[in-house]
Amino acid sequence: MIISTVGSHSALQILHGAKQEGLRTKVYCLKGKESLYKRYRVTKNIVSMDSYEDLLGIKPESDEIFIPHGTIIATLDEKALEIPIPIFGNRQGMLWEMKREKNLQLLQDAVIRTPKSIDAENIEQPSIVKFPGAKGGDGYFLCTTSEEFESKISSLLEGGKITKKDVQEIQIQEYIVGVTMYPHYFYSIIYDRVEMLGIDRRYETNVDALGRISQEQMNITPSYKVVGNQPLIIRESLLPDILDYGDRLLESSKRLFHPGIIGPFCIELALTTDELIAFEFTSRIVAGTSLYIAGSPYSKILFNEEMSMSRRIAREIKMAMEQRRLEELLS
Ligand code: AMP
Repeated sequence: MIISTVGSHSALQILHGAKQEGLRTKVYCLKGKESLYKRYRVTKNIVSMDSYEDLLGIKPESDEIFIPHGTIIATLDEKALEIPIPIFGNRQGMLWEMKREKNLQLLQDAVIRTPKSIDAENIEQPSIVKFPGAKGGDGYFLCTTSEEFESKISSLLEGGKITKKDVQEIQIQEYIVGVTMYPHYFYSIIYDRVEMLGIDRRYETNVDALGRISQEQMNITPSYKVVGNQPLIIRESLLPDILDYGDRLLESSKRLFHPGIIGPFCIELALTTDELIAFEFTSRIVAGTSLYIAGSPYSKILFNEEMSMSRRIAREIKMAMEQRRLEELLS
């Protein structure tokens, strides 16, 4: 069995976890990016590509399973669903993740509180303006009135930073003042259970630097581009809600895109003084799981061994092969 992925995002972890479970590995890399995977010795099987679109023309090996991650969704958009290699997970999940309305619909179907949507004409409170696509928070801006929104949009249009089409697909939400947390879930078909394997928080430029300067100097536009992830352990009394959110999201996914989410998923949460609010969900491995290549406190309690998310994926594949149930995990 060969586990393959694209060389970026969480590829080091994905290939390392597959090797830990004794599976073979392969990486598809943009030309010039190969050396990272050589230096960390996670695979000897490196396929160079001119662009991510080349993935759509790949001829897979007969026993190859592809692990999708955030780069696929951000670069290929809906074409990600056409990758000609069997993927671990439900392809439909990628579509529900990348389309903002669908993403919110799934959370709302699971009765998980999401930020209120706001019309451009009625902005009266601190609001965050989001553009389409999974660009990791790149280009978001804040505003508190409709006038401020209009003037910021005009200057972005004038500067060529956004297109008129982007403006049509804009999403404006109430700004949630809360601490963020990103639990990493894994739905095991073999055990028919949702496992919560770890939690991270994202480290984002420049919003996570703003606390270091005084309020008087604050005429700075915050941005939310992820540069890394930090580990998080949460109060034990919060865990039942976090687990409940994962169970509910899974059940909704089964209703909305049969057979639902398979394997890794994440809910991006912010905890305010009195509410746990979800910004969005992801239907595949998130980069924050790479914090826990040697396992997290939660995965240690569950498995009593070094269980990263990618090792968990490889373990599930192996168990499914033993039980002749591999098809159930793939799409
Ligand atoms: P997203 O693209 O929805 O994952 O958002 C990227 C980042 O923007 C998140 O990690 C948060 O830091 C921030 N963010 C998104 N939505 C909101 C919101 N409604 N209120 C406050 N911060 C948000």
